[in-house]
Amino acid sequence: MLYVSFISTSSKTRSVKRFSLFLSTLLFLVSVAVIGCKPDVKTPPAVVTVPEVPLVKRTIPVPAFSGDSAYAHVAAQVAMGPRYANTKAHEQVRAYITSTLERYGAKVTVQDFKTKFYDGTSVTGYNIIGSYNPDSTKRVFLSAHYDTRPIADSPLADPKRYNEPILGADDGGSGVGALLEIARLLHENPFPEMGVDLVFFDLEDNGNPEYSNESDTYSWALGSQHWAKSPHVSGYSPKFGVLLDMVGAKDAVFGREGYSKYYAGQYQNKIWNLAKKMGQGERFVDAEVSPVTDDHYFINTIAGWPTVDIIYKPIGKDGGFGSHWHTHNDNMDIISAETLQSVGQVVTAVVYREAGNML
Ligand SMILES: [Zn+2]
Repeated sequence: MLYVSFISTSSKTRSVKRFSLFLSTLLFLVSVAVIGCKPDVKTPPAVVTVPEVPLVKRTIPVPAFSGDSAYAHVAAQVAMGPRYANTKAHEQVRAYITSTLERYGAKVTVQDFKTKFYDGTSVTGYNIIGSYNPDSTKRVFLSAHYDTRPIADSPLADPKRYNEPILGADDGGSGVGALLEIARLLHENPFPEMGVDLVFFDLEDNGNPEYSNESDTYSWALGSQHWAKSPHVSGYSPKFGVLLDMVGAKDAVFGREGYSKYYAGQYQNKIWNLAKKMGQGERFVDAEVSPVTDDHYFINTIAGWPTVDIIYKPIGKDGGFGSHWHTHNDNMDIISAETLQSVGQVVTAVVYREAGNML
């Protein structure tokens, strides 16, 4: 072995040294052998740097809203006649909404409730809710009232026909028509991971008459007042909502309504900005319009769920609505598939493109 030649020349010493060298070599070899028998000691894993992959936002296509289909739903309602509480047509329109929602795969809840009109008459109201993805806790709702005004008390209405109920093609029919078309889209096209409720309110338009000296805000929107206090599902907590009211007239433009701006400004901004991007800036105009007592007022103030009203109010005409409002001119002659198309497409885009980001 190589190291022997380096040993001292004294023979005794040499032999002792050789022996001790032999022993130490032996010990060294044994120790190597023993160490070699130990279980493998794991080397700590090397740190691997993974390049950051940017998150790809999944974009779900916005389906095409059909203004013609919404128009057909409005016409079907108007063909039933005026649709206010305790009439055959009111029963028919409830059946129409319920069966259409079921056909389009919604989970339908009919919420009946007892309440009183401004004159003290007791009445049963029926809110209808069509839910998509009912188990999701992240929710938005779209809403409209389906009842129609039982009198024609606009200052512009024919006073001789005051007690003759109106057809409510725009005021009642249009919002329902748009929502039922959206039901079809939700049924046929995947939408972002969230729940969507389509809420059809009863008894919105039975508030105290124009000529009355009393102006009782709470005589209006009895269905939404009930729903805001007692939602159809306990613990219901939608992130935000949209209300469609009078969204079908030929000449309709939609300004930014005051209560919506106050209670749900950020959502109103999103909707109007989206509309502008979609080329609907002439219909969804930036002008502010005065606050309206409508279903959204009660949802915002009672339940605190931010709700935006999309409602036709001529710009610069304080307090007034379209000239057909609460008159017998609110019939199919003033309804336009094109207006329904613009509003419906914007609201569909709110659900498909924006709602997920707003949750
Ligand atoms: Zn009305």
